[in-house]
Amino acid sequence: MPKTKLLQIGEITDRMRDALTDVFEIDILFDQEDRAAFLSAHGADYPAILTNGHWGVPEDVAAATSNLKVVSSYGVGYDAIDADGFAERGVLIAHTPGVLSDEVANTFLMLWLAVSRELIPADAYARSGRWEKEGNYPLTRSVMKRRVGILGLGRIGETIAARCAAFDAEIHYHSRSKKQVPYTYHDSAEKLAEAVEVLVAITPGGPETRHMVNADVLKALGPDGLFFNVARGSVVDEAALVKALQDGTIAGAGLDVFEQEPKIPDALKEMTNVVLLPHVASATHETRQAMGDLVVENLRTWLEDGSVVTPVPECAHL
Ligand code: NDP
Repeated sequence: MPKTKLLQIGEITDRMRDALTDVFEIDILFDQEDRAAFLSAHGADYPAILTNGHWGVPEDVAAATSNLKVVSSYGVGYDAIDADGFAERGVLIAHTPGVLSDEVANTFLMLWLAVSRELIPADAYARSGRWEKEGNYPLTRSVMKRRVGILGLGRIGETIAARCAAFDAEIHYHSRSKKQVPYTYHDSAEKLAEAVEVLVAITPGGPETRHMVNADVLKALGPDGLFFNVARGSVVDEAALVKALQDGTIAGAGLDVFEQEPKIPDALKEMTNVVLLPHVASATHETRQAMGDLVVENLRTWLEDGSVVTPVPECAHL
């Protein structure tokens, strides 16, 4: 049987490639010298695309792949893919939900502990010899018994809520719909921020959630409040966040994602009450392997019976 043509956007691991090459013939978009000429000559040859949450499916690729049937994306966030547009075309979009929830929740906890207990400055104090010369490091803030607000109580938000029980936290949340959960619901991000001391954003990105955390929300969080973003940079008005941190509107922040990745505002880099990560919330060997395996499973399942294991909600009816 001839192999099915698969267009690869972005990098994949050897393990993923090895698990696909018996049935797929893989061509790499970024290896093509003249992308426009390549897409115009061969775009229609690809029924399948393998991509990731960062690259998604660019407009030129979407337009050229007129016989596209399936997109398998590495990552749970798919704001870089026009899921509604593809659903209208009858194209199935698969992503990797669930397998990364533990890791992303752990990343939030790592950031929260690091900011509250001043892990990075305290480490610098220990290494620099200041402890020996100047005495004990100042006291820090405990993470115990805090009111924690989860903006987006989905798979990862619920995992975060469960983890927070270990810290005797009182959980509050805001999402589009109220859930059957033993946590306190608020019908806006601002009301949520007003009710809590620790606010974590874990909604999808995209136009619907753009700048959901703005100057008003940060003001509501207050001068002892801590803000964390493990969602998407677009969810937060970054300029407003920088200002709120500079003028003491909030006390500190832990950020894994930024509006113009990989650019991080210089002002944030200078703040000792902020911990910065280069978008690594799911980036462990174990979790990335599980994500890769699910990407492969979605493609192989589609080849076998035309379905995928984990479609995005917009395509679930296809
Ligand atoms: P889910 O779809 O399970 O959860 C999303 C939650 O966000 C839901 O509670 C949903 O509400 C809520 N939500 C969506 N839109 C809005 C809105 N306009 N206003 C308020 N709430 C909204 O997704 P996951 O938990 O699996 O993942 C969440 C996101 O985390 C991903 O989309 C991705 O962007 C991000 N992520 C970031 C990573 C990183 O590396 N930093 C890694 C993995 C994920 P409702 O339930 O009412 O629909």
